[in-house]
Amino acid sequence: MAVLVTGGAGYIGSATVELLREGDVDVIVLDNLDYGHRDAICDVPFYKGNVGDSDLVKRIVLEHGIESCVHFAAYAYVGESVTDPAKYFANNTVQTNDLLNALIESDVKNIVFSSTCATYGDPQYIPIDEMHPQKPINPYGWSKFMTERILESYDSAYGLKFVTLRYFNAAGATAKCGEHHDPETHLIPNVLRAADGDLPFVSVFGDDYDTPDGTCIRDYIHVADLADAHLRALDHLKGGGDSAHINLGNGLGFSVLEVIEAARKVSGRTIDVKIEPRRTGDPARLIANASKAFEVLGWKPENAGIETIIRSAWDWKKAHPNGYAS
Ligand code: UDP
Repeated sequence: MAVLVTGGAGYIGSATVELLREGDVDVIVLDNLDYGHRDAICDVPFYKGNVGDSDLVKRIVLEHGIESCVHFAAYAYVGESVTDPAKYFANNTVQTNDLLNALIESDVKNIVFSSTCATYGDPQYIPIDEMHPQKPINPYGWSKFMTERILESYDSAYGLKFVTLRYFNAAGATAKCGEHHDPETHLIPNVLRAADGDLPFVSVFGDDYDTPDGTCIRDYIHVADLADAHLRALDHLKGGGDSAHINLGNGLGFSVLEVIEAARKVSGRTIDVKIEPRRTGDPARLIANASKAFEVLGWKPENAGIETIIRSAWDWKKAHPNGYAS
């Protein structure tokens, strides 16, 4: 089976490519390298381009005998999506629609889609299951929400089968693949930069939330566990499984201060903290109910502990002090 992985040079994409290759799956990566890293995928057959380039997608499918697609390619800065929504809808929704059309025209009808807990918006209850109402609070969330609706319509009309994986907070690293964003906005990489002296302190955005220590609680899920879920989703579709929307999280919540404390333990370093104002649009708690992932895919996280997750990110940082070269 040959699999087209769009956005395969990105953080979760490259970890998934690594796991697919370990399973001897033929993988082809399509990535425009706006944010991806060429050296994250080494010798994997690679095309630099946009997912909206229908001629390119059709050519790749034909030349490589693609049977399925895992679609990661997307912009993912929530704040930027608020100030420049056009960029997010053009890339994440319109180009994805073009990709789906090209795949269907090429008779590729199995797709695993990177979705997000941002499609739920402010939680009405915790833990969040897939039946929770979806009411995104930023254009990034809407751009993914709309793609989910397109997938449903294409399933009914054209027989496209999909699994959308709604990630909670991706974190950690595999031996080869880690998190390198520019700019870096995520908590764990910034905490580790502070631990390593790259930053003088870590900013904590708000300590007056309605949580035990006043800081936001998130469900951090190891990138290797996310990658594993993609392989299972591909197998599910290949075995004729129904389309499904599936949460991926640990079902455990850690506050910002708990993450920083765990990073102090793992690194053995001092980490200074500066309390800053709340970041717009941050809910106090986001925790997944991921039982459907087990029921449908037989998936459960193997690296659930926050220290395990942080240790993997710390090890990767030590091995790649400047991140990826490209
Ligand atoms: N956060 C923080 N300092 C940072 C980065 C993030 O306090 O330097 C907080 C952020 O406000 C949120 C949590 O950490 O409550 C997780 O943020 P992240 O950007 O990693 O993921 P998100 O939940 O926004 O997808």
